[in-house]
Parts: sequence; structure tokens; C-alpha cells
Amino acid sequence: MTTTRPRTWLITGVSSGFGRALAQAALDRGERVWGTVRSEADADAFRALAPDLARAPILDVTDETAAHRVAAAVEADSGGMGGGGGIGGGGIDILVNNAGYGLVGGVEETSLADARAQFEVNVFGALAMMQAVLPYMRGRRAGHIVNITSVSGLVGWPSLGLYSGSKFALEGITETLAQEVAPLGIKVTMVEPGGFRTDFAGRSRKRSAADTDRPDLAADYDATVGACKRILASHAGQERGDPARAALAILKALDAETPPLRLLLGEDAVGYATMKLTRQLADIEAWRAVSVDTDFQA
Ligand code: NAP
Repeated sequence: MTTTRPRTWLITGVSSGFGRALAQAALDRGERVWGTVRSEADADAFRALAPDLARAPILDVTDETAAHRVAAAVEADSGGMGGGGGIGGGGIDILVNNAGYGLVGGVEETSLADARAQFEVNVFGALAMMQAVLPYMRGRRAGHIVNITSVSGLVGWPSLGLYSGSKFALEGITETLAQEVAPLGIKVTMVEPGGFRTDFAGRSRKRSAADTDRPDLAADYDATVGACKRILASHAGQERGDPARAALAILKALDAETPPLRLLLGEDAVGYATMKLTRQLADIEAWRAVSVDTDFQA
């Protein structure tokens, strides 16, 4: 069973990629979208997609105060707090934490400053948005929080350790939140894409600052970190995943009467996740006797 009532969305990072594709798909259905951007030019371009339905607040998700200000403004403008002089609606129905980037660098070569910056955006930025929106959703006993994590939130690869770490962290927070807010009528879903053709492999891929300064590490890590960096570079722009089809898949999942806690996107994501879970289960079984033998012996 699906719902067809026009909904009100707040999506972070709609200048390109998944955020833009999802916003476009929702606008195509006549739904209202507040999509955050980081420049006036991107705001103009986003509003132009559907002047009656699209709004584009400026937000860097690392600014916690601004996250709360944007959530309050969207609630006020969409009528969530009564009235509403803007484009209408009844407050934020769906928050999509999409804004993010990928830090590339081996674990040893990555500076702590780069690692912290990665977590500031991918983890704490999303957390700030959830904390900003939850009071309104709790008040209505309704709403859906959607976090774009990654198959890298389930599986680690050489050269993507800190990106993976940030997405694993977001998965842990999200899985927990789902249990905490289910009794309050709020749904939670993680979207775990594999490789998709967005700007992610271009301007949203940051190389660790230390990355090029450590020739001393090059030989030892060439077969692992180096090889994976070369694979990432060769795949850029050739990814199999189509963001427009991803957007339709996300809409389908969110429309469902019982939306999934996790939605993998892409054949590669399904393959890697299955391989990971199969190996993990095999490890659990192989070491079960040792694992369970640690309880106090009565
Ligand atoms: P994208 O086209 O480069 O879009 C990234 C978006 O995030 C842009 O709108 C960017 O805004 C925004 N953003 C980045 N840092 C921000 C910040 N501090 N504050 C506010 N907005 C910020 O890449 P994408 O693939 O669509 O990425 C979207 C999400 O998908 C990310 O969370 C990424 O980790 C995830 N993902 C992507 C893939 C993939 O293969 N594409 C796979 C798995 C997961 P600006 O334009 O202002 O920079």
C-alpha cells in the first residue's frame, strides 16, 4: 500500500547528485521540497526547478546553530507551527541527510585534522539535523528520517577507512535512533548506495592532505591503499549507478507501509553487503565456542 498525500521534505545538499535527483523526483510528484545549498547561485538554480514548490535555504551542515535555524524556518514556512505563509504543508514530513563527501587516504597517512573534518560533515552534520528536526516530529508523532549512508557504512576498503568510519558511525547512530523513536511514530531509514554517477568522485572526493606528503609510506601500502586509489580514480565517471533511478527506488521504499530500516542501492552494493555478512556469519560460527565460553562459570 502506498500513500499519495503531497509531503514536505527537507533534504541537505541538493546542488547535485542524490540530493538533487531525490528532490527532483519529489517535486515531479507535486511535493514540497526545502533543499539546502551552500551558495546563492545553487539556491537560484534549485528554486527554478519548481518555483511554487521548491525552497533553498543556505546551510553548511557543520554549523549546528544554522541547522536549528533552518529547521525552525522550514517548520514556520511550511505551517508545521501553525499558520505558514510560505509554500504550505504541515511541517517537515521527511528529513533526508544527504550532504557528505568522501575522504580518500590510508589510515596511517590520514591526518587527524582531515579525519575530524570528515566526521564533522558526515556524522555530526547529520546528527545536528536530526536533533534539530526531531522535536517537531515528536510533537506531531509522525515523520521519517532518511540518512544516506553507503555500502561503505557496512564494508571497509583500503584508502576509504575514514570515510567508511564516518558512515559506520552514522549507521550505528541511525540504527539506535530507529529503536528510540519508533514508539513515537517516527520512521527511520538508511540508504546504502554502491557506486553512483554523481559529483562524488569529482569535487566531493577529498584526498587526505597528508596523502601526497608521505613517500615513506608509498612502497608498503602500494598493493593495498595505492591499488584502491588507482581503482577509484579509474572508476570515476564510469559508475554503474544512475542517481535518477536511485531516487525512484528511495521513493518506493519511503512510500511503503513498512519502510525498510536499510535500503541497499546498486548491484555492487548488494554483492558487497552479502559477501560481508556471509563472512561475518561464518566467523561467528567458527568462533562460537570461544565467544560464548567467556561468561562467568556458575
Ligand atoms: P555530490 O553530487 O557531490 O553531492 C554532495 C552534496 O553534499 C552537494 O550538494 C554538496 O554541496 C553537499 N555538501 C557537502 N558538504 C557539505 C556541507 N558541509 N554542508 C552542506 N552541504 C554539503 O555527491 P553524492 O554522491 O550525491 O553524495 C551525496 C551522499 O551520497 C553523500 O553523503 C555520499 O557519502 C553518499 N554516497 C554517494 C555514493 C556515490 O557513489 N555517489 C555512494 C555511497 C554514498 P556543495 O555543492 O555546496 O558542495
